Amino acid sequence: MAADATAAPQPPHEAIDRGRGRLIVLAGPTAVGKGTIAEYVRTHFPGVWFSVSMTTRRPRPGEVDGVHYHFVEDHEFDRLVEAGQFLEHAVVHGAAKYGTPRGPVERIISSGRDALLEIDLQGARQVRETWPDALFVFLAPPSWDELVRRLVGRGTEGEAERERRLATARAELAAQSEFDEVVVNDDVRRASEELVSLMRSGRADR
Ligand code: 5GP
Repeated sequence: MAADATAAPQPPHEAIDRGRGRLIVLAGPTAVGKGTIAEYVRTHFPGVWFSVSMTTRRPRPGEVDGVHYHFVEDHEFDRLVEAGQFLEHAVVHGAAKYGTPRGPVERIISSGRDALLEIDLQGARQVRETWPDALFVFLAPPSWDELVRRLVGRGTEGEAERERRLATARAELAAQSEFDEVVVNDDVRRASEELVSLMRSGRADR
C-alpha cells in the first residue's frame, strides 16, 4: 500500500546517523513460520533487536501488549499515520492495520545495533523506497503444498480467511525475486541460523 498522502513529511533517511547498525527486513507469506523463526532468533540471539509493530487487530490468547504488538484502536493508528510516526504501514489480509513505529528503529540503528522488522510484502516495498540499503530477506516455504498444510494445521483461521490468505500468499511468493536473499524455512533452527548469518555477513555480496 502506498504511504498515506496525508502523512507528515518525513526526514530523509540520509539525515539519520545510522551508526553501524543495519536494518533487516524479513517478509514472507502467511503461515511460512515468520513468528517461529522470530521466536527462535529472539531466544538464541539476544543481541538482535526486534521492532514491535503496532496493529489494530485484537490480541490473540497469549499475546502481550508491548511484546508481540502494540495493540491500538483504529483512530489512534490513523493519528500516528498522519503524524508521520510509521516507517511503513499497511492493511494486511484486507483486515487490520499494521505499522512499524519509526522512532525506536531509528534510535537502535543510530546506536549501532541491528534492527529486524518482520512485516508483510507491502511494508517491505515501502521500506525499500525509503531505506534502500536495508537487507531484504524473504522467508519461503519448502513448497506450496507445505504452506497449505501449515496454514490448515495451525487452525487459527476459518475457511474463508484461509482462502484469502492463500490468495495473498500466491502473490507474495511471486515477489520473492525482489528480495536480496531467500531463506527456505525447511527447519526452524537451520533457517534461523541462516538468517542470523546473513545479518552478520555484511553487504559484500549484495
Ligand atoms: P498476524 O496478525 O498473524 O500477527 O500478522 C499478519 C501479517 O501482518 C503477517 O504477515 C505479518 O508479517 C504482518 N505484519 C506484522 N507487523 C507488521 C508491520 O508492522 N507492518 C506490516 N506491513 N506488516 C506487518
